[in-house]
Amino acid sequence: MSRKIQVYNTLTRKKEIFKPIVENHVGMYVCGPTVYGDPHLGHARPSITFDVVFRYLKHSDYKVRYVRNITDAGHLENDADEAEDKIAKKARLEQLEPMEIVQFYTISYHKAMDALNCLPPSIEPRATGHIIEQIEMVKKILENGFAYEINGSVYLDVNKYNEKYPYGILSGRNIEDTLEGTRELDGQSEKKSSVDFAIWKNANPEHIMRWTSPWGEGFPGWHMECSAMGEKYLGKNFDIHGGGMDLVFPHHEAEIAQSNACNDCSPVNYWMHNNMITVDGKKMGKSLGNFINLEEFFNGSHAKLDRAYNPMTIRFFILQAHYRSTIDFGNEALQAAEKGFNKLITAMETLQSLTPSDRSTYNVNELEEKCYTAMDDDFNTPILIAHLFDGVRIINSVKDGKESLNTTDLSKMKNLFLSFVTDILGLISSKESNGNNLTNEVMELVLKLRGNAKKNKDFKTADLIRDELDKVGIQVKDSREGSNWEIK
Ligand code: ZN
Repeated sequence: MSRKIQVYNTLTRKKEIFKPIVENHVGMYVCGPTVYGDPHLGHARPSITFDVVFRYLKHSDYKVRYVRNITDAGHLENDADEAEDKIAKKARLEQLEPMEIVQFYTISYHKAMDALNCLPPSIEPRATGHIIEQIEMVKKILENGFAYEINGSVYLDVNKYNEKYPYGILSGRNIEDTLEGTRELDGQSEKKSSVDFAIWKNANPEHIMRWTSPWGEGFPGWHMECSAMGEKYLGKNFDIHGGGMDLVFPHHEAEIAQSNACNDCSPVNYWMHNNMITVDGKKMGKSLGNFINLEEFFNGSHAKLDRAYNPMTIRFFILQAHYRSTIDFGNEALQAAEKGFNKLITAMETLQSLTPSDRSTYNVNELEEKCYTAMDDDFNTPILIAHLFDGVRIINSVKDGKESLNTTDLSKMKNLFLSFVTDILGLISSKESNGNNLTNEVMELVLKLRGNAKKNKDFKTADLIRDELDKVGIQVKDSREGSNWEIK
């Protein structure tokens, strides 16, 4: 590795040169979805952010083991110790088995990830598949004296923990701050202190998702699964742990405490967190009516949306901002992103048709260097995209005969766009993302038949073809040069 990648570490609050524990190998864990509802924008951002990190590390010749879990038990409403499991609640409301809920929403999450062209992780473990590992960790934490059992539940003793390890190291929240936020619950709880959190919960009779443990029937605390699965697949200490900023506290803070308490070892070297998404300047929330799920973006069915947006527009829009900045979604901004994305993809198509000249008027090596520098600087995708648009300008100028590229530079330019746009940013044309060559060939045939109908002044057939395609989500665009199509 000759280039150095700088990563902003939430733990140290600064950019650091990334150095993996094992040379050329990276272990990365990202908190995945709790599968009890349709995938929405809040899922798209971490998935796309860490997909680009995964892609760039692989592009930089690292062997990456990327673990992203599925939370299918133990995540309680409002992250509280006393509440109903989110999945069990949905199952009760819909009169289904909890695992039917899990299966249904795991499939829709995978579908959305495919549409957004996020690569599947190397391992996608589920919380319910790792109950034994979680129980083992709870046992060890108890043995080490950092937890206590009461009425069949086990709580991490945060004050005791804080005597040996600094609690709040990641979030910057100390015990006093945390007490401030939880004081109103005092007196109602069986916990020694309201800062303590459950690592195992006793299941009351109506709790359906339950397992046998040394402390009776119960279920693991939500934070436990990531500690157990991270350790199982990546070791007691691994390189990168990612997730949304909203997970810093309590989830990731609790993960650090659990691992220290269990293994006397800090679990993660680089903590990375993506910022949040707002819609029309407001935090997303079901009660605000701005909670848009991804399917609604793709088919335009939400009242807030002027029309449907291609998954690649969403991906491009997210990557136009640095992952540590906030993003505000709105129709105007999305339409601007769509224009930008189309310009980029059109330039890539133009690039394939350019003919080389004897000499070059442009330095492609310099552009390539700038692109790498942007990505090496904490995965700065907006700067990378700005450099790529310099390339777009050159491609269009070469096409117009105002600039020229020789054979070597032209092939370098093609490689550069293929590497950065397709492989690293994961941006592909909507035709590629929604189908395969067969679709392209069939569409070519359909448009040819429609063209023939028009030539024969059979406008009824031509319109019928256009309208029927529209119904299945394909838009036909007529221009002087002929007809083209795109997936809406
Ligand atoms: Zn997690």
